[in-house]
Amino acid sequence: MQAEQKATLPGALYVVATPLGNLGDITARAREVLARAQVVAAEDTRHSQRLLDALGIRARMMALHEHNEQQAAGALMEHLRAGAAVALITDAGTPAISDPGARAVARVQAAGFAVVPVPGSCAAVAALSVSGLVGARFDFVGFLPPRAQARRAAIAALREREPVQVLYEAPHRIVECVADLRDVLGGAREIVFARELTKLHEEIARMPLREAPAWLAADANRQRGEYVLLLAGAPARAMDDIGAREAALLRALAEHLPPKTAAAIVAEHTGLPKKRLYECLLAQKG
Ligand code: SAM
Repeated sequence: MQAEQKATLPGALYVVATPLGNLGDITARAREVLARAQVVAAEDTRHSQRLLDALGIRARMMALHEHNEQQAAGALMEHLRAGAAVALITDAGTPAISDPGARAVARVQAAGFAVVPVPGSCAAVAALSVSGLVGARFDFVGFLPPRAQARRAAIAALREREPVQVLYEAPHRIVECVADLRDVLGGAREIVFARELTKLHEEIARMPLREAPAWLAADANRQRGEYVLLLAGAPARAMDDIGAREAALLRALAEHLPPKTAAAIVAEHTGLPKKRLYECLLAQKG
């Protein structure tokens, strides 16, 4: 029965999302693809074997992780050449998102084989959906550099970004990472902790960065577990509503004239409200 089913799945690389923790989050389609694929390429075969066992799926597995991705991609293409359906999974969530898979996908595509997404859980998206941070845009930052100096530089590069910033962090670095975020971005910036999503100790907490170290320290469990960190974006720049050319002119005039005069000239030539232009200059000075 299973061999018959396997033959009906078209040959392709299926990039399959798996649950972050709660097994109930496996999709019906993911289950079907995993059951029918001739080969399942997994980041950690022992870890994924437990998932397949829980789903009652028997599959031929191969390892594809960050240290063997090129070589494994070659083996994977041999299966595709033979017409097989190959499923790619990682330990949790969506492959190629801060996880192995992107290089294999690129190679498979370059060789002309079909790559099919089988979407599902992704920690970043799950965290964003419950963050309560309002804003249409977000930047997926993923993991910051592990070393302090490089991490601080990476955080400084995010400081002026207006979209919500979405970060992944390993449990053993959460305390130092949050301290750096507070120091570099300032205590007023809002952070959302999305911890252990879909698991027993799931926790979503939002606060200004100045309160974040104390929140982590208040419960030893908070220094363990998986985290997505979300940061409110930088406040919109004061002149965003008046147009880039008008703002440039206003700034240029204000270098040589008193703010009131600069605002009056730009107002006269653009029709923009003088009061708003004057406020922009004051906000910029502030
Ligand atoms: N590919 C995965 C995805 O789609 O989200 C991410 C893999 S990345 C190697 C692992 C990181 O994802 C963790 O360090 C953590 O930041 C985040 N993560 C994974 N599972 C999580 C969970 N249940 N709750 C919160 N964050 C999680």
